[in-house]
Amino acid sequence: MGERNFADSLRGRRIEAVSRRGKYLWMPLDDGRALVAHLGMSGQLLLPPREQTAETHLRVQLALAGADRDLRFVDQRTFGGLFVDELVDDGRGGRIPASVVHIARDPLDPDFDDRAFSRALRARDSGIKRALLDQTLVSGIGNIYADEALWRARLHYDRSARTLNARQVAELLGHVRDVMVEALAEGGTSFDDLYVDVNGSSGYFDRSLRAYGREGEPCERCGRPIVREPFMNRSSYRCPTCQRRPRSG
Ligand SMILES: [Zn+2]
Repeated sequence: MGERNFADSLRGRRIEAVSRRGKYLWMPLDDGRALVAHLGMSGQLLLPPREQTAETHLRVQLALAGADRDLRFVDQRTFGGLFVDELVDDGRGGRIPASVVHIARDPLDPDFDDRAFSRALRARDSGIKRALLDQTLVSGIGNIYADEALWRARLHYDRSARTLNARQVAELLGHVRDVMVEALAEGGTSFDDLYVDVNGSSGYFDRSLRAYGREGEPCERCGRPIVREPFMNRSSYRCPTCQRRPRSG
């Protein structure tokens, strides 16, 4: 969709709600379609007062009628995007953008199905962390929160998902939820000024991290230094004692 079409499809429309799943956030419009944002690695949706100076990496600016605010999409790295999409049936009586259908619910979603997740996870051949990062299985868990939840659960990231029993998955899911709730309460995790809320304020959950980013620092449980290992073009942090490498697969 070109710039002109994009603008035309939004002009005069009413935003009826705000929903999200994983890194997708969408606003159903009064014409049966939705304005969809994918935040990518660094995208931000901001609601600044209209007179506020344009942000350096401002990509889209929408004037909200009846409010003295703009809806602005700012993205330093342009991996994210903003587009208009058709809404389709979500299979549970609701509507969801066609582009978001393949994204699983996150563990804080009231409709998240713990038993279905447990079954699907334990059917996976992959390592536990790779599964947690798979957005078609579960969304909302990024590299940092996966490392933190696995540290709390004392699980190695390469432990095969198939070797976990239902109780271990339930425990892990509990830790995932705790990490997410605590991170939300502290406004998210900010390693640089890209990670901010709609008012441009950064979070401070990074101060509460027990594993991620703590290479060489003592594990809070056992004192062994946390190690960092390459993982899927990123890094995994773990305690070599509390989170032992599995003997095989
Ligand atoms: Zn430890």
